[in-house]
Amino acid sequence: MDFLHNNLQNVLSRIRTVCLQSDRAENAASLIAVSKTFPAEDIRTVYRCGQRDFGENYIQEWYAKTDELADCPDIVWHIIGDIQSNKTKYVAERAHWVHTVSRLKIAERLSHQRPTHMPPLQICIEVNIAQEPNKHGIAPEDVLPLARELIKLPKLALRGLMCVAKADCSETELNRQFQTMRNLLAELNQAGIAADVLSMGMSSDMETAIRNGATHVRIGSAIFGNRQYAQST
Ligand SMILES: *Cc1c(COP(=O)(O)O)cnc(C)c1O
Repeated sequence: MDFLHNNLQNVLSRIRTVCLQSDRAENAASLIAVSKTFPAEDIRTVYRCGQRDFGENYIQEWYAKTDELADCPDIVWHIIGDIQSNKTKYVAERAHWVHTVSRLKIAERLSHQRPTHMPPLQICIEVNIAQEPNKHGIAPEDVLPLARELIKLPKLALRGLMCVAKADCSETELNRQFQTMRNLLAELNQAGIAADVLSMGMSSDMETAIRNGATHVRIGSAIFGNRQYAQST
C-alpha cells in the first residue's frame, strides 16, 4: 500500500536527516514502528517495505498479531505498554524487548518465565521524566537503585532508559527532559552499568529526541496514520 510505504520512507528520511544535522551517524537512531490498534496486515505491508522493528502496547492485541504474522518470522517485537503481572508470560515467550520496566516484581517474573533456549529479554527502565502523576515510569532518582537490581536477573539484559515526554510543552522544556534522560544514562555508565539505549521520541517530538541522543524512536501515527480506536488490555 502506497500510503504506508510513503509514510515509512518519509519517517526514515526525517531520521537520517536529523542524525546527520546533529553530527551523528545517519543510522544512529533506529526506528520502531508502533503498530498498536492497527491490523496485522498493515504490519505485514510495512514489513515488506523492509521494516523489522515493531512496537506494541496492549499485550492481548499484540499476542494475537504474532499468531497472524507467522509468515514474518524475523520481526523484532518491542513492548512499549504497561505489563500486568498476569501477562508477563506472553511477553517472556514472544517479545524481544520491553521498554517499560518500572517494577522489580514484573522484571523478576519476566526473567523467570523467559524460556532458557531464548536469548535474554532486552529491557529499558521507563522514566517518568516530567514526574506526571498519571504516567507510568519511575522517578529519575529511583533509576540507579532499580538498575542495580535488574542487572542481577539472569534472563534480562538491561539496555537503557525509555521515556514519553510531556505532551504540549515548549521546545526548551522538551530539550530539558531529553537531556535529563541522557544524563541519567551517563550516571548508569559511571556506576559501571553498561547501558547504551535511549528510547525516546515519538511522531511529534522525534527530531528533538534525536538531537538529544535518542538511539531508538517509537513512531506510530506518522507511519500508520491516526489511530481510530483505543483498547484497554
Ligand atoms: C503510541 C505510542 C508511541 C507512538 O506514538 P505516535 O505519537 O503515534 O508516534 C510511542 N511510544 C509509546 C509509549 C506509545 O504508547
